[in-house]
Amino acid sequence: KVRVRFAPSPTGPLHIGGVRTALFNYLFAKKHGGDFVLRIEDTDQNRYVEGAEEYIVKSLDWCGISFDEGPDKNEKFGPYRQSERKDLYKQYADELIANGKAYYAFDTAEQLDAERKGHEAEGKTFIYNWHNREKGRLVNSLVLTEAETKAKIDAGEHYVVRFKSPQDETLHLTDIIRGNIKIDTNVLDDKILFKSDGMPTYHLANIVDDHLMEITHVIRGEEWLPSLALHKLLYDAFGWEAPEFAHLPLILKPTGKGKLSKRDGDKMGFPVFPLEYTAADGTVSRGYKEDGYFPEAVVNFLAFLGWNPGTEQEIFSLEQLITDFDLARVNKAGARFDPDKTKWFNHHYMQQQLDLDLAEQFKASKPELADIDINYIALCVGLIKERATFISDFWNLSHFFFTAPTSYDEKASKKAIKEGTAEIMTKVIELVNATEDFTVENLQTNIKGWITDNEIGFGKVMMPLRLALVGALQGPDVFDIMFMIGKAETVKRIEQLIA
Ligand code: GLU
Repeated sequence: KVRVRFAPSPTGPLHIGGVRTALFNYLFAKKHGGDFVLRIEDTDQNRYVEGAEEYIVKSLDWCGISFDEGPDKNEKFGPYRQSERKDLYKQYADELIANGKAYYAFDTAEQLDAERKGHEAEGKTFIYNWHNREKGRLVNSLVLTEAETKAKIDAGEHYVVRFKSPQDETLHLTDIIRGNIKIDTNVLDDKILFKSDGMPTYHLANIVDDHLMEITHVIRGEEWLPSLALHKLLYDAFGWEAPEFAHLPLILKPTGKGKLSKRDGDKMGFPVFPLEYTAADGTVSRGYKEDGYFPEAVVNFLAFLGWNPGTEQEIFSLEQLITDFDLARVNKAGARFDPDKTKWFNHHYMQQQLDLDLAEQFKASKPELADIDINYIALCVGLIKERATFISDFWNLSHFFFTAPTSYDEKASKKAIKEGTAEIMTKVIELVNATEDFTVENLQTNIKGWITDNEIGFGKVMMPLRLALVGALQGPDVFDIMFMIGKAETVKRIEQLIA
């Protein structure tokens, strides 16, 4: 059975790259009838941020990405917070030491620093591995005797457990998206797996948990590709079968140059977080939700950050994504993030919403609408939503349905009001008053009929009429507006224009 996990570290708000990783895991799991697990990787207490886990859960929930197992949910492989599993990892570090795959190291920060500088002076990069670990300058159990090692540990000296990466080997790794990758083990450093404070590092905890939670596919961001070799070696060292790996492409800035960063959103004027986020210092970063995006739109554009269906189709619901998603169609090249396309998706999903639902949100956002009947608002929304991307666009597009213009756009007035306008408008008032059954069709027939019969220029009537109703020359069909606001209000607004 397919089992995948999303394993964020609660070090701050989840950005869209993280949501994309969660989404691809979710789609892959659901496509294959598998399980999607949420695991919180909080072993690094220095980087822990209060509230971050809650933010992650809320974000996934808003997007409609539900997990089958996770903190407080169906805990059959739990607990799902690594901090609650911390007693479990030491035995695995010990096991690797016992079979010679890992060793204790006692180097102090100063010693490591001196090594690094020494290497730099010779123009080399310092790699803590076969180059130097057995040279005797570094203090580890590969150069100390067993008794010396034990004495240090008993004396309470700080130690770390390092993985002993193999020398002079070529590793053949496979990634579902990138194919075969060859790695010379001599470029690997001996990563720290465990520290004497009793905490494992990411690498050890991640592998142990993926194994214990029976994860079959690891789908994660490209930034973890450099860890793939170590992870594969760790599985081998434990004698465990490794899951399959897929590293998702980077998300690039709108310019296509460089990785999209958490700061780019606020700098460039678009959100990079699913939900608004207030940092410890009080700075607020905008969120898709608060900016008025529909979760369907966010999910749809995220799916296209690295994946494509191989057809022209761009609109995909979560359900359709589950059906069509395929890791074989995920690119390895970076995916450029396009905020305009995101708006395009939002405009599309806006059209799919029920007018009544939109009206409710519109009403809630605008005190001016407090006393107005929801069905009337819904009808207005139906007439203008085609031109809106966000609900926050509604008022500018529809205020004239609710209030008469208090001023007229200057340019529009110049264009619309000519000699004879007052007479023409007086006639229009008559026609409006004479329209007994006040429907869009009757208004159209009466007014357009009069225009044609008298061979008056169309614009000479329609422009001032629109100006009277809207205050400007934009807006939906004039006859729709008249019908919506009613006879009395229509007459009042025309009279006001020529008063
Ligand atoms: N905790 C890691 C992160 O924050 C997980 C990486 C992985 O999926 O292996 O992204």
